[in-house]
Amino acid sequence: MRSIFFMPSDDLAGDAVRHVPLPRKEVCEMLNISGIHEGFVLDHIKAGMSMRIYHDLKLDRLDCPVAIIKNARSNKMGKKDIIKVECPIDALDLDILGYIDHHITVNVIKDDKIVEKKKLHLPKEVHNVIFCKNPRCITSIEQELEHVFVLTDPKQEVYRCKYCEAKFKA
Ligand SMILES: [Zn+2]
Repeated sequence: MRSIFFMPSDDLAGDAVRHVPLPRKEVCEMLNISGIHEGFVLDHIKAGMSMRIYHDLKLDRLDCPVAIIKNARSNKMGKKDIIKVECPIDALDLDILGYIDHHITVNVIKDDKIVEKKKLHLPKEVHNVIFCKNPRCITSIEQELEHVFVLTDPKQEVYRCKYCEAKFKA
């Protein structure tokens, strides 16, 4: 757990911020990437979701600084979580984020600047993120099989097991 720092959300909206005479947008961007030379800032995470993302992105296995900010104030969302990861930008597979919540903003940081804002979308397939619960599915019998779910209805955001077509229910 040594790589997680819990920062109070006041870091983002404290007095020091309010008196900086910059347009709000620029202030936010400066704050979001503070302390990161190369890596990611995942912004607009639904409050309370950051730990799930921490695990699903396997950030616990990375040997690099990770900061999780919970319940930061947000004009748009009321409260939000933010995750900052300092790592080489090819070290993270972010496809999985699209499945978890494609409204998350992915800022890619290089040389202390935001070089890209990635648009997330629902992935067509997810591997070993969600698991088939159908007891008659082959994945229940052959334990070493990958659990693969396919997006069958993008509008309703329905995923079905690739093997038995069972609909995924959270
Ligand atoms: Zn299945």
